[in-house]
Amino acid sequence: MMDTHQKHGWKNMPEELGSALLNLIRLTSTDLPPDVEDALQRARRTERPGSAASTALDAMLRNTKLARQNSTPLCQDTGTPLFYVTHPAGYSTRMLRSEIEQAVAEATRQSLLRPNAVHPISGENTGDNLGGEYLPTIHFTETEDDALTINLILKGGGCENVGAQYKLPDENLQAGRDLDGVRRVVLDAVYQAQGRGCAPGVLGVAIGGDRASSYQASKQVFLRQLDDHHPAPHIAALEKDWLAEANQLGIGPMGFGGHTTLLGIKIALLHRLPASYFVTVSYMCWAYRRRRLTLRNRFALFS
Ligand code: SF4
Repeated sequence: MMDTHQKHGWKNMPEELGSALLNLIRLTSTDLPPDVEDALQRARRTERPGSAASTALDAMLRNTKLARQNSTPLCQDTGTPLFYVTHPAGYSTRMLRSEIEQAVAEATRQSLLRPNAVHPISGENTGDNLGGEYLPTIHFTETEDDALTINLILKGGGCENVGAQYKLPDENLQAGRDLDGVRRVVLDAVYQAQGRGCAPGVLGVAIGGDRASSYQASKQVFLRQLDDHHPAPHIAALEKDWLAEANQLGIGPMGFGGHTTLLGIKIALLHRLPASYFVTVSYMCWAYRRRRLTLRNRFALFS
């Protein structure tokens, strides 16, 4: 009987998947996606030549080029690996998890990832970026498509630290349970993050859900392209308006002042209980490392 891997053309899946995963990690850690680099270049053109903002953006762009040329990590903090796997029916998620873990450990040995997994109490480093069932973080979704798709985000610790969750209404911010209330807390999150989180950043904003699903959705939107548009025009308009407003705060790259505090805002909507109105803001730093591996008919495509 034909097994799942034969059916999908991945008879020798372990070896081939392992090397494809290692390449995915290498690409993600060392090669900033083109849409992010383009956004940094556009941002530099808006800043006054010779200003601190322009100098900071120049340094980021130089760093991006060097990391790509030398195949070395973009930042000393290679972040938390977040994997999003979409697989056809019949795949073993246990096997996929094992393949991903082996690739993460090998990437750490090859210095593509910094050993970043420490015990929560003792602080002891596992040395290979593996830490029980939560590190690396892997989300599995089954699809009717016949391709196996693996997205990877490397999310830095500094930007993770400035993420925030709000519960509306919020009296201190005069934020009610409406879109203006959401706008107020989103701008507050940007204001609170100033000087930290390595701006210019990108915000993932989840409106609704429970505390956990809201955080999860606020990170998953980082899989979107920077220049895409939310499918609902009124939400796309909010993303654009709030971005323009955030960039008028004058915080600028690395908090040095300037026009570019954010490169983008991406919104997710989640149904919620009537009793709860959460708004969760995840912050992604300029080192916005996300890449995709698509495996179909024995071909591996990286994007
Ligand atoms: S927040 Fe991002 S750019 Fe800043 S140190 Fe961490 S990974 Fe690097």
